[in-house]
Amino acid sequence: MKKYTHLFFDLDHTLWDYDQNSADTLKQLYKKYQLAKITNFSLDELIRCFNEINEGLWVKFHLGEISKDEIRRSRFNLVFKLLGGYSFIFTDEFSEEYIRECPTKGHLIPGALELLDYLSGNYELHIITNGFEDIQHIKLSTTGLDHFFDQIFISGLVGYRKPEKEIFTHALNITKALSSTSLMIGDSLESDIVGAKSVPMDQVYFNPKRTAHNEKVTHEIQKLLQLKSFL
Ligand SMILES: [Mg+2]
Repeated sequence: MKKYTHLFFDLDHTLWDYDQNSADTLKQLYKKYQLAKITNFSLDELIRCFNEINEGLWVKFHLGEISKDEIRRSRFNLVFKLLGGYSFIFTDEFSEEYIRECPTKGHLIPGALELLDYLSGNYELHIITNGFEDIQHIKLSTTGLDHFFDQIFISGLVGYRKPEKEIFTHALNITKALSSTSLMIGDSLESDIVGAKSVPMDQVYFNPKRTAHNEKVTHEIQKLLQLKSFL
């Protein structure tokens, strides 16, 4: 008999290729706003700087230090300042366009669709994500990922965010899943793995860059399709 009945997936960086989709959006906006003409920074510098600032803001968001509106408001002001002290009148528009466009991009992590095809029918599949509710639904419907999942738990709607134990126990209650036969799959040690352990339920750490760590995890994979070896 198989060990797991319910699989809970993280979305960003686990199924939905955040880095690629974000880079594509920045490329589109770099061109549209003619940043090559009016600034001294390259597209690559914009992408690098955005990633750095964005990650820093997300860490603060997870720590409860800033709100999602503050991320949205300050993100590109900080980016343009860091890239040469630019202050554009179109920064707010640029920021809103980024938020609107990025979730409509369709790059998935390699193997995601093949894996979900393989798993669906044999397991109940669900999502637990910390993203913003308005954006995560667009990502799921644009890519067609939504067809694979029974329940989608978004921190903004549930009122708790990973790694808080409450979002996991809420997900287990709603899906009528047992923690002993559930598995959490995600790319973040801090939110996905630590959170699932607090329940406790088994975890898969998706670690494509082979980042070194000391956390004890149930399973660790570098490619999504490696899940097929035990599911
Ligand atoms: Mg993630």
